[in-house]
Amino acid sequence: MISLFYLAMASIDLSYFARGDVSSSFKKEVSEVLNDCYGRFAEKVPYKIEVYAFDTENNLNNFLREEKFKLGLSFNTIDDASACTHEVLRDYPRLLLCKDRLFKYSKQARAGAIRHEAAHTILHGALEYNIFQIPEDCRHTATVKGIDNDKLDEIFFQLSLGVKDFEATRFLIQHDYIHCQFAYAMEWIKPTEDDKTAWSISRTNRQTRFVYESALMRPILFTDPLLSLPKSKKAPAELQLQLSVRMEQMIALLGETEENKVLKVAGAIIETLGEDTHKNIDAAFHQLIGLI
Ligand SMILES: [Zn+2]
Repeated sequence: MISLFYLAMASIDLSYFARGDVSSSFKKEVSEVLNDCYGRFAEKVPYKIEVYAFDTENNLNNFLREEKFKLGLSFNTIDDASACTHEVLRDYPRLLLCKDRLFKYSKQARAGAIRHEAAHTILHGALEYNIFQIPEDCRHTATVKGIDNDKLDEIFFQLSLGVKDFEATRFLIQHDYIHCQFAYAMEWIKPTEDDKTAWSISRTNRQTRFVYESALMRPILFTDPLLSLPKSKKAPAELQLQLSVRMEQMIALLGETEENKVLKVAGAIIETLGEDTHKNIDAAFHQLIGLI
């Protein structure tokens, strides 16, 4: 059962819905964050946006499953790490939030996560930003070097998310949302014991090593616009230091040789990034292939 809980903002058709046990304080928090956000994004906001707040991950996944079923599409559960997501199955974006996941974060990081997703609805809220093709020459190089097609598809998909995350962070910084993005990054960018185990298994094989190292591009791309900011009150040195230490911990697991290789490719990717998402993903993937 979906209930409409708020209708806001005269200039945009922005409606809020809830499913499951979603408290009124959470609804209020979400609508305050988003009304402010879309107000600041003003001229770039699409004509219509729907926001759905779910209590549990299960309810969020059930909703996506039903929506895709209606359209005859296959269903994959949302990315495990995400507390929010968006989809573009209609001709307007819908932002999906999961209360259980968001409440693992601090209040500032929650706002950061919600704003991050709102930025995606502005920059990538149309179907064309969800359909990309692996450049043929890259596929050829990967095949020659022994990378399976399904692995390459997965790596390409992950890289496209990383590039879109870079664009989202850059966009939020331009709209003066900075501290909340540091707070959000600190919540999800942390090396775990699982990472250490995964790397020790992956490192011995060219294909698995490529998969592992490619996955690191997402946090690197997400954080780069924050770490590249000139130091100021808006981007205090201590926040940049904490975040760069985190990133360093993630990459240091690889050992010096691989770490240098990853940083070099990441630097080359970042150099290529301009304003056009399709060109960005294409150019980034050409650089990423250098990691094989
Ligand atoms: Zn994202």
